[in-house]
Amino acid sequence: MNKRHKTKEIKIGNLKIGGNNPIVIQSMAKVPTKDYRRVIAQIRKLEKEGCSIVRVAVKDEEDAHAILKIKNAIRIPLVADIHFNWKLAICAIKSGADKIRLNPGNIYKKQEVKEIVNLCRDYSIPIRVGLNSGSIPKTFRYNARLRPALKLVKAALDYIKLLEDFNFTDIVVSLKCSNVLDTIEAYQKIAQRCSYPLHLGLTATGFTEAGKIKSAVALGVLLSQGIGDTIRVSLTDEPQQEVMIAKYILSSLGLGSFGPEIISCPACGRTEVDIEKIVSELHHKLSAIPAWPAGRRYPCLAGRQALSASQGKLAVMGCVVNGPGEAEDADLAIAFGKKEGLLYKNSKFIKKVSSAQAVDELLKEWSKICTRT
Ligand code: SF4
Repeated sequence: MNKRHKTKEIKIGNLKIGGNNPIVIQSMAKVPTKDYRRVIAQIRKLEKEGCSIVRVAVKDEEDAHAILKIKNAIRIPLVADIHFNWKLAICAIKSGADKIRLNPGNIYKKQEVKEIVNLCRDYSIPIRVGLNSGSIPKTFRYNARLRPALKLVKAALDYIKLLEDFNFTDIVVSLKCSNVLDTIEAYQKIAQRCSYPLHLGLTATGFTEAGKIKSAVALGVLLSQGIGDTIRVSLTDEPQQEVMIAKYILSSLGLGSFGPEIISCPACGRTEVDIEKIVSELHHKLSAIPAWPAGRRYPCLAGRQALSASQGKLAVMGCVVNGPGEAEDADLAIAFGKKEGLLYKNSKFIKKVSSAQAVDELLKEWSKICTRT
């Protein structure tokens, strides 16, 4: 892992991003904002899943006015997503938005941007310069000599300069492409050219499973290079799925703790139990434990030496070939045989359990670890 890229700390409602703050997960409500009851229900589910910032689309004044009602019913900062009509940004800010996302591809007139900036300053809210490969400003869009990533970077730098000329520096930047390599290049380049917090993400990722992989690859590469302050996994799926995948990406890099990490073998001809069923059951039961904020130690491990990215590791192995080896590196492990499994805790064999009782036994032992301080 590279050292984290240094960025400016920015306040969004009651949350700080950039600087030394943890990398936070964000998502977006996927129902019309004016239908505020459904939006609130969706955001509450996102909060429960571990989402730290949420965005809503503002298409008209009714959407902008709904922000006030939504804000009063949720706990996490709310971002208004504005395109085309600068007056909607004004309305959303006055309704209580904690941050505004502007698209330089469709809100660019100097006087209009100035009006938005002045109000953001008065209300102490930041602006995300949100570039998308599908709506690059015309100046760069048709420039055949520029690669897609460079078009985004140049357009972002121009817009940042416009905001800075108005003495405004509460800025977050995103440069989203649907292509993984373009996204990686765009963020690498912008990270060299500015020190504003970066909101990482791709856009239009396609079929859900492909979107998960594309996001994991692009965001994984960038985060491992120390680039990124907040992430959004864009999926054509329920928003909670976006948060769940974002959690896996962060925890796999040791950048967040959201519950124990389950290590399981892929199974093979040696396996005599249904590993897939056992792991799935374990995952769902352990997921019921509420999400824990990124950057903090998982509560069950408070006071213990850091183990596996401070989140606890649970290994489920199909046989004794790799079982004892993985057990050495796990807080809790089981290596299955024919009708029973060998249970290890902190690298030590503790008992044999029947395969049918394995999940219950693992959960029982895990809860003992969790209550120990
Ligand atoms: Fe096969 Fe054993 Fe390896 Fe699992 S741990 S994949 S059962 S050899």
